[in-house]
Amino acid sequence: MVIAIDGPAGAGKSTVARAVADALGFTYLDTGAMYRAVALARLLGRDGAEVGFDDGRVTLDGEDVGDRIRTEEVTEEASRVAAEREVREAMVARQRELMGEGDWVAEGRDIGSVVVPHAEVKVFLTADPRERAQRRAAELGVDPEEVLAQQRTRDERDSSREASPLLLADGAEELDTTGLTIDEVVERIVGLARR
Ligand code: C5P
Repeated sequence: MVIAIDGPAGAGKSTVARAVADALGFTYLDTGAMYRAVALARLLGRDGAEVGFDDGRVTLDGEDVGDRIRTEEVTEEASRVAAEREVREAMVARQRELMGEGDWVAEGRDIGSVVVPHAEVKVFLTADPRERAQRRAAELGVDPEEVLAQQRTRDERDSSREASPLLLADGAEELDTTGLTIDEVVERIVGLARR
């Protein structure tokens, strides 16, 4: 079974997807981390480095880059490389290959619309932009206003790009997490999966 969780940055996808995977004993796939790894490769002048996904660890030519892909610089670059058609094609192929077998909770922007349109459960997580920025700012320990401004640019880029724009997939359930606790959101998705 595949549970696809899409939505904009800061809607709580990672936390929720990880918890849903734990609750159901599924494997968690963070597709954003794959785009981040490609972005890191580009910033390091290592275009063409092999992006791997091993047991929840994201690797670049076999090296674990989990810590290095969370910087502001990589975040910004990831949203740029993710708009490139060739990068998307390569990542989507990789993700389909990974999810060809077993039970998965995959989070990203295009999982329910492009990567696995036949996913048994599709959820589109949203939240008020201000709340999303506040969550991310608290995580990173930075100014919420600055995060809000950058988030706006990235939301805009993700939604307006030609290749796989962020959109509500056919058959996806939209879930606004503003004011909900993580547990409430997780319970709701686990409920959809059990049904
Ligand atoms: O989710 P996260 O912030 O880690 O994603 C990093 C970037 O990768 C996002 O800005 C988005 O542009 C891109 N992305 C994507 N498609 C996905 C996952 C992430 O375009 N399935």
